[in-house]
Amino acid sequence: MPGYSNFFEFIQTCMVNSSRKRLVIGNWKMHGDTAFNSELLAGLRQGIADVSNCDVAVCVPFPYLYQTRSLLEGSGIGWGGQDVSRHEKGAYTGETAASMLADFACRWVLVGHSERRSYHGETDSLVAQKAAAALAAGITPVVCVGETQQQQEAGETHAVIERQLAPVLALGAESVAKLVVAYEPVWAIGTGLTATPEQAQEVHRMIRERLQAAGAGQVRILYGGSVKGSNAASLFAMPDIDGALVGGASLVASEFLSIAAA
Ligand code: PEP
Repeated sequence: MPGYSNFFEFIQTCMVNSSRKRLVIGNWKMHGDTAFNSELLAGLRQGIADVSNCDVAVCVPFPYLYQTRSLLEGSGIGWGGQDVSRHEKGAYTGETAASMLADFACRWVLVGHSERRSYHGETDSLVAQKAAAALAAGITPVVCVGETQQQQEAGETHAVIERQLAPVLALGAESVAKLVVAYEPVWAIGTGLTATPEQAQEVHRMIRERLQAAGAGQVRILYGGSVKGSNAASLFAMPDIDGALVGGASLVASEFLSIAAA
């Protein structure tokens, strides 16, 4: 029962947890082309009937939003982008406004993925501004947080995540209640290494406490980092893990669906 002081607190949390609908989101990163996407989306559309009690979505590269929308409309599977501008509109070459994502009926957008933080220098404050821009357009931001291996080894995991979350929590309870948080230890992304369910639960519990203190304890917290069909069920059995953000495995329809089915 990582993160719980006693058995009763654990059971109570499990009961509350069961009221949060599971959510599994695929992050295609910079993969795909029209032919590949067509096959993948057809596979998802075909297999989604076997998945119940779980929201499922894919976050795709911007040029494929039109195709994704066309092939998923009416399927029950949602879609979204992998980044969004903090600006509403204007002379920001290369950026994509939240209203543009909304124009393609996106329900979701990733913000602050570790690859954006490390390759594009995105700061905690910028990530919070992007989350606010998404919310203003009626899109749910999936705020990604997580520590590097070095930070984990130095025992800094909680401090890093608290720092990353601080400007997001400062958006206020009403906004925070509408977003999703994804805990993705950087050392587990695309490496085949996964946090054990107990390790992940311990961090999710800490995030839950911060969200509760901010007045938004029922926000869904996803785990991300080499999630596969074979390890999803043990992660989802943890009381504060409400689903997954899936990279590599989201590019194979059967694997992605088996995570959602778990
Ligand atoms: C990700 O990119 O968000 C991710 C979790 O990747 P992977 O599942 O491949 O580790």
